Amino acid sequence: MATAELTLADTLARPLRDLRISVTDRCQFRCTYCMPREVFGRDFAFLPREQLLTFEELTRLARIFASLGVRKLRLTGGEPLLRRDLDKLVAMLACIDGIQDIALTTNGALLANKAAALAAAGLRRVTVSLDSLDDAVFMALNYAKFPVARVLEAVAAAAGAGLVPVKVNMVVRRGVNEQSILPMAAHFRGSGHVLRFIEYMDVGTTNGWRLDDVVPAADIIAMIGAHWPVEPVEPAYPGEVASRYRYRDGGGEIGVIASVTQPFCRGCTRARLSADGQLYTCLFAATGHDLREPLRAGARDHDIREQISSIWTGRTDRYSERRTRRTGRARQVKPKVEMSRIGG
Ligand code: SAM
Repeated sequence: MATAELTLADTLARPLRDLRISVTDRCQFRCTYCMPREVFGRDFAFLPREQLLTFEELTRLARIFASLGVRKLRLTGGEPLLRRDLDKLVAMLACIDGIQDIALTTNGALLANKAAALAAAGLRRVTVSLDSLDDAVFMALNYAKFPVARVLEAVAAAAGAGLVPVKVNMVVRRGVNEQSILPMAAHFRGSGHVLRFIEYMDVGTTNGWRLDDVVPAADIIAMIGAHWPVEPVEPAYPGEVASRYRYRDGGGEIGVIASVTQPFCRGCTRARLSADGQLYTCLFAATGHDLREPLRAGARDHDIREQISSIWTGRTDRYSERRTRRTGRARQVKPKVEMSRIGG
């Protein structure tokens, strides 16, 4: 059934290939650009357990998505490793026909002890977020007094478990951690891990985003290239979000995710499922489509499949492109769902 449906495409002829599954809306970190403490404080109402999709529900949905052409799954959050027994979910997802790749994005806090079990369950790749090698900078960003060394241990554990190459995501915010770009590049050069710099995005309504806070990817590449010459690498597959570069001296690869200065809406093949079963067709979408309600009301696979198919074929999203074209100087224009609900 899966192969018969590979042509499902949206209004811009973009196929549905990737599903990002947020397994929880909770995180132990309070990164200032994602879940700032002033908003996600003690009284913040996170989703009660019964509103989260169960592993069985997630697997059922993932199977339906696979039948519509999805080949890659990425588990995210919140912090996905806060969801107990995540390796069991990975094992369930790994059995789905058509799924070729299961990846995880994590802050690394709980990864060191879980990497081996996740890999054994069928996880193929991991991306670890780390915004600086400087404890003072990193702790000021994560607001959880979490030390850099523990994240580096997690990266090493992931590599030791065979989840290679480990990708390391660094969100760059002007005036906050741009001084960490070169030390991070120096540290990961030659390590076999792939460091990726992400332009700070106006995701959600709570991070007080300003264009002036964005360090353009081109500047980041120029800064690194001035120390260690780099050259572009062809994308590994159509729609790859990171632009890839390699060090000319053989020191490995880096990437930049230029979602603000070079939006990649045209190649976006990603759908996002929130922990409570809302389907979003864009990271910047204001509203989602409820899949949990039909799931729990006893809908048949066929009906849910039709619902997803009609949502995807009607998809018009190109938020980042429009924003950049409209203003030249991007600014926030509408309320959006928080990234902490649907993952990066
Ligand atoms: N908790 C996990 C983690 O820390 O990787 C997964 C969820 S987190 C929302 C996924 C990714 O989104 C992380 O790499 C994070 O740095 C990135 N991210 C969050 N807010 C962002 C923003 N405003 N701009 C750019 N990237 C952001």
